[in-house]
Amino acid sequence: RQAAFRTDLTVLLDQVGTGKESLSFMKRRIRRLAQQWATAANRLDAKLEQRWRDQKKILVHVGFLTEESGDVFSPKVLKGGPLGEMVQWADILTALHVLGHNLKISMSVKELQGFLGVPPGRGSCPLTGPLPFDLIYTDYHGLQQMKQHMGLSLKKHKCHIRVIDTFGTEPAYNHEEYATLHGYRTNWGYWNLNARQYMTMFPHTPDNSFMGFVSEELNETEKRSIQQNKVNNMAVVYGKEASMWKVQGKEGFLQILHRYMEVHGTVYYETQRPPEVPAFVKNHGLLPQHELQQLLRKAKLFIGFGFPYEGPAPLEAIANGCIFLQPKFNPPHSSLNHEFFRGKPTSREVSSQHPYAEQYIGRPHVMTVDYNNSLEFDSAIREIMRTKVEPYLPYEYTCEGMLERVHSYIQHQDFCAPEPPFILANLSRQGSAGGSRVAGPLFVPLSNSTSLGWATNVTAPSAWPPLSSLRLLVSQEGQSCVEACQSAGFICEPAHFRFINNKEALHGLEVQCEVVDSEINHILPAFSVVRRECGLQREPLLFSCAGHSPKYRRLCPCRDFRRGQVALCKDCL
Ligand code: UDP
Repeated sequence: RQAAFRTDLTVLLDQVGTGKESLSFMKRRIRRLAQQWATAANRLDAKLEQRWRDQKKILVHVGFLTEESGDVFSPKVLKGGPLGEMVQWADILTALHVLGHNLKISMSVKELQGFLGVPPGRGSCPLTGPLPFDLIYTDYHGLQQMKQHMGLSLKKHKCHIRVIDTFGTEPAYNHEEYATLHGYRTNWGYWNLNARQYMTMFPHTPDNSFMGFVSEELNETEKRSIQQNKVNNMAVVYGKEASMWKVQGKEGFLQILHRYMEVHGTVYYETQRPPEVPAFVKNHGLLPQHELQQLLRKAKLFIGFGFPYEGPAPLEAIANGCIFLQPKFNPPHSSLNHEFFRGKPTSREVSSQHPYAEQYIGRPHVMTVDYNNSLEFDSAIREIMRTKVEPYLPYEYTCEGMLERVHSYIQHQDFCAPEPPFILANLSRQGSAGGSRVAGPLFVPLSNSTSLGWATNVTAPSAWPPLSSLRLLVSQEGQSCVEACQSAGFICEPAHFRFINNKEALHGLEVQCEVVDSEINHILPAFSVVRRECGLQREPLLFSCAGHSPKYRRLCPCRDFRRGQVALCKDCL
């Protein structure tokens, strides 16, 4: 069946259910953004020009909100607890509904069993018939519950699963045997999924898919009125829980801030001002989302203290015309050196409180500085007060951007079908590496056409992203493919690894290999210049954009991307 866009959210609101603060929060959000979603649906509908879209049967099982997982989040919704996950789930549900799919929502193990047709309360009774869904969106908690209640059949059906995973899972942590043997075992990883089945909150490692969420959009009239009503000396502190205000050196930089600006907070409290919040701060208490937006419309500065990491609030602040000021982390925080990330299935290095804001948005909307350097901090505040900025929201965080991305994933990503074979051809070299050895970055564009180049024949007409987006590049020693592609203005595309994991690619790059081995190692394909050793990847699950090693230069499958929509290549729609 063909999916038809929906602009009425009544059915969805009924499906979400009642009885918990988390559900009320999500429903308030869905209602508040309803008009925005409807407009976006109409726009994308027009953009896609009647293209056929399959209507999928989709189950959404929100594991972390089930009683069976302990649901620690719901009771804290009104008390300053984390809301980012609820923001994201509300938006995922809305996007799937608006795109016109056939949606079922489960928030308990009982509902999960009901939808899957597994008899209740019989432990790990495997699902016998076919899976009644094309796609299942869940999280790590939900995955565990499905394992318990679907037993062996989970393995058979796992290609249909998508895991909403805020911070991301790198391939080395996802491969059970490899993770166990090489010290990448954590509480979360080792599900042997295709790493693109994990979907993140921000475009972290491109090994995962980027799901995201949305932020409020302003029309031109609102933008103008915001700019007229900005209070140049008004700052709002990012941190709704008192513990986020326990920061080393806070007295110093808060004093500087207070010298120039009126400082506001939205910190949850029961009866008294939390001791962590200084007396000069105007604390509004935790605000409902729309009231926070109003406060941000007036404020000039939204200032982070280092925690929470990578949340939605900075995007909302920037969308409402604030400048976001945040601390630089030097050295970067990661699972190797910071409690919060310890045990998370990634070794990604977090360079500031909000690396997306730092790297994808940047100045003038975002300033990332060393808070221990009072001169630098002082001059940042003064610069912010005199800088005029317009409200800004990257396209990928608009409703239309999220619909476009989720639509593309649903129609094109298929982890169930065996990957179609392909043939190599026409890998002609562009530019010279100087001499016979690879010296700098090298690009080898592939085309979909069949011809005789340095390799044999090549086509992969059904590949997605299409082969036309591929740019082959060689990393420096110690550099990951994430960095290598980024530094050339591209993004690493794990789906393209299979096209470059061959002797022809090495040969085309004129890499001097004395031996070419095929091994199980997440750094491969790669080569060692010194030892003239080349290695190809034997385990497709270990293709990794994130991997790096000081001894190896990696073969990197980069691709182009759309402006403001990094998840999609130019020919991806
Ligand atoms: N938020 C809110 N009231 C407040 C402060 C924040 O409703 O007083 C919302 C905010 O709009 C954002 C959500 O809380 O959408 C999550 O924000 P944050 O970036 O703090 O991430 P978290 O750590 O909660 O996941």
